Amino acid sequence: MKELEEFAATFKRDLLKKVKKPRIWKEKDILDGKIVNAFVLILRTKGCRWANKAGCLMCGYFKETYDAGKDEILRQINEAYKQYEGEEIVKIFTSGSFLDEEEIPLELQRYIIKKFSKAKKIIIESRPEFIENLKELDGEARIEVAMGLESANDLVLEYAINKGFSFKEWRKAAKKVKKYGKELKVYILIKPPFLTEKDAIRDAVKSVEKVKDIADTISFNPVAIHSKTVLERMWRHGLYHPPWLWSVVEVLEKARKIYDGIIKCDVVAGGKMRGSHNCGECDKKVLSAIRNFSLTQRAEEFKNLDCKCREEWRDLLEVEEFIKG
Ligand code: SF4
Ligand SMILES: [Zn+2]
Repeated sequence: MKELEEFAATFKRDLLKKVKKPRIWKEKDILDGKIVNAFVLILRTKGCRWANKAGCLMCGYFKETYDAGKDEILRQINEAYKQYEGEEIVKIFTSGSFLDEEEIPLELQRYIIKKFSKAKKIIIESRPEFIENLKELDGEARIEVAMGLESANDLVLEYAINKGFSFKEWRKAAKKVKKYGKELKVYILIKPPFLTEKDAIRDAVKSVEKVKDIADTISFNPVAIHSKTVLERMWRHGLYHPPWLWSVVEVLEKARKIYDGIIKCDVVAGGKMRGSHNCGECDKKVLSAIRNFSLTQRAEEFKNLDCKCREEWRDLLEVEEFIKG
């Protein structure tokens, strides 16, 4: 879909800022059924190769990148390491693909894995096209590769997201992750553009069906509006609305019934206009239940949730279906 690719690319030109400090924070996560501490490091690299070419319609991560060379990345890692306090999980992200040698040269990839080898698990992210490089990262550390799929439906991937690969291609790479003895985390989007609320719920759940045999963890990302993206323009013109938190809850409940692995959900900008939200009155409660669910894995977290807006949400699901015909 050449036109969509070109349109998406125009949003990025001239926007790359000079930012140098990696982002670091600590959070809770689960490891082998226990709640543990996690160290999160976002390295500033040149970013996602696909984003630099065209990019996914909802992705604004290109704004966090700049053309860092090898020495600069090494400096970022060593600086970050000073803040590492032996957290069990280490997440090293790049706003792109850790395994892409154009972003992080191979020797640096190895250096980073070795540097944090005291961690019980290291999580990295990559697009499918770079998974082959995993074979170079054989070491003692337990590595989990998070690979964005967003949707297992090729039409959604191509026309609603501009993902740049098909489900078949993603699946081939997912098998390689397992072949190289690594764990696989799958990102699934909740409410790609152009889908009704109900179709978005169906799409996320169907995607779970198609990856449940291979994923160790499924991580849901309810769409948030990033600035300077195609999606932001749609949102400003009333052509897109982020998912209701009720839709997120429904996806998580349905996923829990059909999938035995770990389910996570991080609601970026939750409760805000740019993120997944409900009526405003119940948002905090629902967000807290979603956070608890990600740690406890128990659907019971959603049991006592309710609000008058839930009826409004149900109506919307029906009305949108009716209009769609
Ligand atoms: S969502 Fe991932 S693959 Fe898509 S442009 Fe952003 S960083 Fe690249
Ligand atoms: Zn409400």
